[in-house]
Amino acid sequence: MAVQTVAGKSTSTSAENPQETPFGPAAALSCRECGTRYPLTPVFACLECFGPLEVAYDLPVGDPEGLRARIEAGPANIWRYAPLLPVPADVTQKQNLNPGWTKLVKADNLARELGVTGGLYVKDDSGNPTHSFKDRVVAIALEAARTFGLTTLSCSSTGNLAGAVGAAAARAGFRSCVFIPHDLEEGKVVMAAVYGGELVAIEGSYDDVNRFCSELIGDPIGEGWGFVNVNLRPYYGEGSKTLAYEIAEQLGWRLPDNLVIPIASGSQLTKIDKGLQELIKLGLVEDKPYKIFGAQAEGCSPVSAAFKAGHDVVRPVKRDTIAKSLAIGNPADGPYVLDIARRTGGAVEDVNDEQVVDAIKLLARTEGIFAETAGGVTVGVLKKLIETGQLDPAAETVVFNTGDGLKTLDAVSPTTGPTATIRPTVAAFREAGLA
Ligand SMILES: *Cc1c(COP(=O)(O)O)cnc(C)c1O
Ligand SMILES: [Zn+2]
Repeated sequence: MAVQTVAGKSTSTSAENPQETPFGPAAALSCRECGTRYPLTPVFACLECFGPLEVAYDLPVGDPEGLRARIEAGPANIWRYAPLLPVPADVTQKQNLNPGWTKLVKADNLARELGVTGGLYVKDDSGNPTHSFKDRVVAIALEAARTFGLTTLSCSSTGNLAGAVGAAAARAGFRSCVFIPHDLEEGKVVMAAVYGGELVAIEGSYDDVNRFCSELIGDPIGEGWGFVNVNLRPYYGEGSKTLAYEIAEQLGWRLPDNLVIPIASGSQLTKIDKGLQELIKLGLVEDKPYKIFGAQAEGCSPVSAAFKAGHDVVRPVKRDTIAKSLAIGNPADGPYVLDIARRTGGAVEDVNDEQVVDAIKLLARTEGIFAETAGGVTVGVLKKLIETGQLDPAAETVVFNTGDGLKTLDAVSPTTGPTATIRPTVAAFREAGLA
């Protein structure tokens, strides 16, 4: 199937039995800006206004008890939420990495340290197959690629996505060719390469990589390619909704008060909000207010800067931070993040690299969770939000760890290591002052 950059307009609506279409309950793509609807094809921009397209649904409203029971009887991965995702009903039969259903850790030690009294949880997505939240979004994009008959899986990546695409393609029998900036962490590069697909390092920033991928899509070379975060972006984004569903279900089908979420492009944050809204609409949880907080690294904080300045638009920045997985200078979903933070009464904050490292160590020391730099950003921002009075410590909060510390060892290796190096004798142990 040819890859188009913009959509042809749709006059059709959903099929008669949505569960039997390749996209389950998904009815159409819909423009976030003007609402124009399009058929479910590999397109991402509105023909009328160039706004981003997202998946619109005929959701199974009216029987929350039945839906809850059906979900609870499902597999311990994101496919338990298949009735709310753009995937076929038989998705569990396909070759896929089956990510999700990661731990929601009650973080009492961290709570005590930060002065949180209302309950604190870490949603730990380092437990996914390639050790970041990106397996969720890739799983949905992969099913879309399969349905569209695409044969090469691709992406522009800040690191984690390249690994997730490589692994998913390997398992599903797709060719993969992924693109990363040349200056990523060794752990990310090795993980992106080990699955045997093609890995291309681009001499430039992530934003350069992204621009290059858009060009490839328009070129005949891109025929048959599914760029999970470009032409498959509407489907990809839906994978992040599963974080909202899991948190609600793991809390006993209810919503927390605050969510602290990292921002790279902003897709994850906006889709978590979409998922929370759906849960309310479906009657799966009681309607209650919640606040969404966005977290960025100071060295690449265009959304935080716009939030603080009261702007509706996000001015692109150059990036310089150890939190490379979040280093997107021109975040596609930035304006929507601003809307959500303001609508829910949340905020967008940033922390510097030193605070990121301190927060990685704080989380490790208090909860035994080793986060990558993105997790250091969220925990650091949570700390700052409490200290500056922006987040109520008496409210219940969920903070996200979206990746594994083993992929960003460089962040902590200069300041961690053996307490002592000694000869293997009791005397030496005593001499080192450790007895
Ligand atoms: C990609 C990524 C994110 C968030 O990405 P968005 O583009 O904002 O959806 C967060 N954490 C990690 C570790 C990531 O790799
Ligand atoms: Zn539009």
